[in-house]
Amino acid sequence: QDFSSFGLIPSLFAGLTAAGYVKPTPIQAAALPAALEGRDVLGLAQTGTGKTAAFALPVLQALASAPRRARPGHPRALVVLPTRELALQVGGVFDLLGIQLSFATAVVHGGVSLNPQIKALAAGIDILIATPGRLIDLMDQGKCRLDAVELFILDEADRMLDMGFFPAVKKLVAKLPKQRQTMFFSATMPDQVSSLAEGLLRDHVRVEV
Ligand code: AMP
Repeated sequence: QDFSSFGLIPSLFAGLTAAGYVKPTPIQAAALPAALEGRDVLGLAQTGTGKTAAFALPVLQALASAPRRARPGHPRALVVLPTRELALQVGGVFDLLGIQLSFATAVVHGGVSLNPQIKALAAGIDILIATPGRLIDLMDQGKCRLDAVELFILDEADRMLDMGFFPAVKKLVAKLPKQRQTMFFSATMPDQVSSLAEGLLRDHVRVEV
């Protein structure tokens, strides 16, 4: 199987070439049909399985299919994940796969100064990749609002629970529009993670690798 069976828009094939992806990984093959249809997805997958492209391709395709000018402080797609390293890595995948699309993407995480992140948001933003604490800071300061989010991705949910991020996650998901597509990824499904997933997902497809 190659990527041609998913109905991806042509500009995403340039992205796949830039990333060097020829064949979908099992999580991509399982998640892409539902995700590209706009369905909610619960993905049980470890890091290293290719789960990033399993959500990045549907995000890029959905945004490209309904183009809109990037608005200051109002991302259309939000990826929330636990660490700076993961945030930068995921940002890199969006940059590569979206190489032929001109989306404004920003990565925000703690441990660095707020100002460049505030400037990036103010310049207009389509895709925001964020760790929870810093995102809450930016929201509390009025620099970011989640009411235009069309696609929401929670990555490595179990790790976020372990790191004590669930209160922040619950605070920010309360600000998301009800009408949205949600993709939820976790390597394991302890009770607290699965009840969070249940509250966030609507009529979802479960994929496991
Ligand atoms: P991830 O689990 O998303 O962090 O991806 C793990 C690694 O696999 C990364 O280095 C990706 O660039 C790579 N990768 C993801 N999808 C594919 C693919 N379809 N073909 C080849 N490499 C891939």
